Amino acid sequence: MKQVIIIGAGLAGLSAGIYARQSGFDTTIYESHTIPGGASTSWRRKGYYFEGGLHWLTGSSPKSQLHRLWREVGALDDSVAIHNRDPFFSYESDGVRASLYRDIEQLRAHLIALSPADRNEINKLCRDVRKLSKVEMPVLDLPNLKAKNPVRFPLSMLFAMIPAMPRMKYYQNLTTQEYSEKFKSPLIRKLICNMIGDQFNAAGVLFTIATLSAGDGGYPVGGSIAMAQRMAKKFLSLGGVIQYKTKVDQVVVENGVVKGVMIHGEMIAADAVIVTKDTLSAIDDMFAEPIREPWAEQMRMECAPMLNVFIGLGVQADLSDLPANCTFPTQHPIRIGDLSFNSISYNNYTGFEGYAPEDGTALTLAMTGDSYDFWKKCREDGTYEAEKQKLADAVIHELEAKYPQISGKIVVCDVATPLTYERYLGSFKGSWMTVTKKGKTNLRFSCKPESIAYLYFAGQRLMMPGGCPVALSTGRTAVQHLCIDTDTVFQGNL
Ligand SMILES: Cc1cc2nc3c(=O)[nH]c(=O)nc-3n(C[C@H](O)[C@H](O)[C@H](O)COP(=O)(O)OP(=O)(O)OC[C@H]3O[C@@H](n4cnc5c(N)ncnc54)[C@H](O)[C@@H]3O)c2cc1C
Repeated sequence: MKQVIIIGAGLAGLSAGIYARQSGFDTTIYESHTIPGGASTSWRRKGYYFEGGLHWLTGSSPKSQLHRLWREVGALDDSVAIHNRDPFFSYESDGVRASLYRDIEQLRAHLIALSPADRNEINKLCRDVRKLSKVEMPVLDLPNLKAKNPVRFPLSMLFAMIPAMPRMKYYQNLTTQEYSEKFKSPLIRKLICNMIGDQFNAAGVLFTIATLSAGDGGYPVGGSIAMAQRMAKKFLSLGGVIQYKTKVDQVVVENGVVKGVMIHGEMIAADAVIVTKDTLSAIDDMFAEPIREPWAEQMRMECAPMLNVFIGLGVQADLSDLPANCTFPTQHPIRIGDLSFNSISYNNYTGFEGYAPEDGTALTLAMTGDSYDFWKKCREDGTYEAEKQKLADAVIHELEAKYPQISGKIVVCDVATPLTYERYLGSFKGSWMTVTKKGKTNLRFSCKPESIAYLYFAGQRLMMPGGCPVALSTGRTAVQHLCIDTDTVFQGNL
């Protein structure tokens, strides 16, 4: 049996591990952290449970193609309840709330009621959301793969995608800001700009609304860590091995062929290695020489990393009257180095059993933007902890001003910076997705370098914008490459 080593027990590593074991490979995952999940993580502090990863899981709907894969790897099953929060995003200013609903007719009526003058643009939005809701990430097999149960591309999906293509191009060529300016209402403009962040092109906004309106993009109860643990359990039940607290220092390559990995100065031999640590950092730091193939150079040039500061707050108050996911303007700009934030976005976990002590609520906030260099400087000059506290104080001050019922009730505050993510994930600048900018299509990168045999990559960075579905599918694709290279029949697609 061929020995396969996988670097990382995030979702890509677990997915690769499960498919590799199913196809008969002797598989060990080395994970530097003490738990599985990588960026898909959640944690508990003083009774409050903070969801640090998943918000919307594409493939949560049984109607989607990806759903079968999530079930195949044990991430979802009949016992896992899915929260489909609705409205799924709101923007609130001067006492007025604009929201995005999953139901398109409800969305249309709500937005037109807010701004009748925008009727035409709102109708266009709803029409395009309907078109895009037919587009999904296809689940395909590699050409030349020998599979026990080959996947056939459903032609119905192709026909559904054709009318959406020109509209996708249209939105890809607009920033979210430019798209929002087509609406007269300042509130709707803000709603659009803030949903996934104004760094993305407008296709991301439309696709997110389309995915959720198709009944997908739910939140599995228990969140990220529970999902990762189910996948790890599946991998172990198939006979796989996970070595936690074990950082791989380097992949060993001799004469263009993978030989194994180095861990604490010891060489562990393997017939194949699948690297799921962020590809953007792995191509520079996991090999004796950086990988310089054209796809790697393109990744270095074109991948704009998405990173954030994450704040978890434990509030000793019932916040059930607050929206589930909301952005509001701040009274004063909040600064993180060169970045200035004029609004705050939060997720409110009211009603999630076990996420807070009785009468308490877990709130999480993500402040997205590249503040890596600022935190690095703070770490070097000894102001890191003080700056984290200063940021937390500013955020809490704004929250308390907006929601007086929170005043004096914040009992837990947990701040993670890009350096925290970098420490845990080893990812480029601590990033966990890629921003798809104006004019950019969703670039894909190969799982398989040309210059090194039996080396494969998997993970969020291989397909823009990344996220859990990309981690899942690239783990599967890496194993399909391995099957082709070793003339093995792929056993997935159950
Ligand atoms: C705040 C936040 C919100 C998000 N929201 C969503 C969402 O709503 N929907 C969605 O789909 N996605 C979301 N994501 C993104 C998603 O979580 C990630 O894209 C995905 O989990 C990446 O998985 P991965 O396996 O590719 O990489 P990672 O999770 O980075 O896994 C890599 C693993 O490799 C390990 N590792 C690294 N280097 C080494 C080494 N040298 N030796 C051993 N182990 C190593 C790391 O510890 C890690 O466990 C969110 C992420 C964050 C942080």
